[in-house]
Amino acid sequence: MKTIEKTILLPVVVVFSAVMTVVIISFFMSLNNAGKELNSAASEYANESTGMIKDRLNIFEETLRAGVGLFAGNGTVSKEQFSNFINTSAVLERYSGAQSVGYAKVVPGSQLTNFSDMIRTTTTSDFTLYPEGSREQYAPVVYVEPQSDNNKRVIGFDIYSEASRQKALNTARDTGMVAVTGVVQSVVDKSESGRSFVMYAPQYKQGMPTSTVEQRRVAIEGYVFAGFRIAQFMENVLPADNDEDVSFKVTVGEDKVDFYRAPDYNTLTARNHVTLETDLPIGSNIFHFTFAYDRNSQLADNDSRPIAILIFGFVTAILIAGAVWLILRGKANELLLEQERGINEAKDNLLSLASHQLRTPATGVKQYLGLLLQGFAGELDGQQKQLLEKAYAGNERQLKTINDVLYLARLGSGRIVLSKSTFSAERLIRDIVHELHDEIETKRHRVTVKAPKRHRDFYGDAHLIRMAIENLITNAIKYTHSGGKIAISLQYAKEGLKITVEDNGIGIEQSQQDRLFEQFERIDNDLSIAVGGSGIGLYVVRNIAGMHDGHVEVTSELNQGSRFTMVMPYMEPDQPNVG
Ligand code: ADP
Repeated sequence: MKTIEKTILLPVVVVFSAVMTVVIISFFMSLNNAGKELNSAASEYANESTGMIKDRLNIFEETLRAGVGLFAGNGTVSKEQFSNFINTSAVLERYSGAQSVGYAKVVPGSQLTNFSDMIRTTTTSDFTLYPEGSREQYAPVVYVEPQSDNNKRVIGFDIYSEASRQKALNTARDTGMVAVTGVVQSVVDKSESGRSFVMYAPQYKQGMPTSTVEQRRVAIEGYVFAGFRIAQFMENVLPADNDEDVSFKVTVGEDKVDFYRAPDYNTLTARNHVTLETDLPIGSNIFHFTFAYDRNSQLADNDSRPIAILIFGFVTAILIAGAVWLILRGKANELLLEQERGINEAKDNLLSLASHQLRTPATGVKQYLGLLLQGFAGELDGQQKQLLEKAYAGNERQLKTINDVLYLARLGSGRIVLSKSTFSAERLIRDIVHELHDEIETKRHRVTVKAPKRHRDFYGDAHLIRMAIENLITNAIKYTHSGGKIAISLQYAKEGLKITVEDNGIGIEQSQQDRLFEQFERIDNDLSIAVGGSGIGLYVVRNIAGMHDGHVEVTSELNQGSRFTMVMPYMEPDQPNVG
């Protein structure tokens, strides 16, 4: 068994390792996936948010372009026309986010006074350009919508006067495209809430070429603009941020100037978080968005999955390996049994063949020796007779062993069929003792046979029962030192026929007694080598008793003697019994 288990261990370990390899790969893939899922959820949110911002700015870009178109169509545009245009488009109402939409006119330094006078007479009586100062070029705001008190204060503000605005204005002018500033401070609100950005669309003088940068610089006439308060814009454009596990900030330009930071950005980034960055080009500026996600909450659902895969996979691997183990062991045992059966069959055939070949000549020898001993070939002198008797006894032992082996062979091949008859067990025993007379005499044993007065016949296989009793008596003779006592008794007991063979011989150690009835088991003792034997006798005895539904008992004590009792229940003559 041990070798079978060793042999099947390797394939079982291979199967287990293969399954575990798959499990471990799945484990790592699932770990990786959790990260990927987080990334895809994050980029989805980021795309959505930046998309909304871009869409909203596009609307204003279009509005500014439409405003420029208004100038192209009309040459000059009055305050009312501008106001009508903005109110008609209703862009400020429909798309909240912008603080103001207006128009600033480019005025060379030399024309400032004339221009201011003109505006005061045509549009705004108290028009004043600010901040003051002598500059080469000005771009004062002339119209602004809606005309709220705050917005009105912007009229006259020179948007060229401030560096970050000027940069975007120049870009718009030079490229002909809409340009966006970085962070600028509102002209009317100097507090935190006044952090703003402005979008400019260039408007060129009618009829002038605008193909090159130089031509555009000459042709520039004014700018239509939209001003946004950053915080307000973000709040308006993005859906309400109810998700405390995600937040973002925006920086602008190459220097990554802080543009916007969602209120919960700092608290979120203080926690265990992951970030995702994305750039959004708007006009000539690049806005860098940094989205921050709470790592634990994003992974919470997926976190248990890799562990579940590992546990489930491990259990599956054990089950599969266990099943493979059981299947292989079953198959191996089956093969082994089949092999054993084949070997046994071959052994039995060989035994049977050998014994038959031995028995015929041995029986012949017995007959010839008998004839010689009986004086058929002339009177024998004392020594001749003695030698012939020894030869006769040796031949007897040989025949007995051959018979035992033959029985074994027939038993192995299932060829033993009880041939039952009614007989006298007492007579059988007395016959055997008679037959063994010479051996008994040689060892000068005293043999007694005791049987109840009231006789009772037994129904069974007389030939086999004789063989069994002969074995027990022969053993008693063999394993008792010369001059021993052998008591054979017969009892018609309640449980059946009891035949007891008791001697005062060398006995058997308690620890060895279990082995007695095993096939080919001999127990070493003072006499076992001298007397010889095959180790089959007691096996045959027990087997024959078993064939008659009986059993054999033994009690023995070392150096005191042994008692073997064969018990066989009575059977009805008509009851068939096939062994
Ligand atoms: P064998 O006599 O051919 O060796 P058996 O199967 O008849 O084989 O007996 C098995 C062993 O049991 C013997 O080798 C012997 O040691 C022991 N044995 C059998 N009968 C007796 C007995 N009456 N007294 C002591 N030992 C015995």
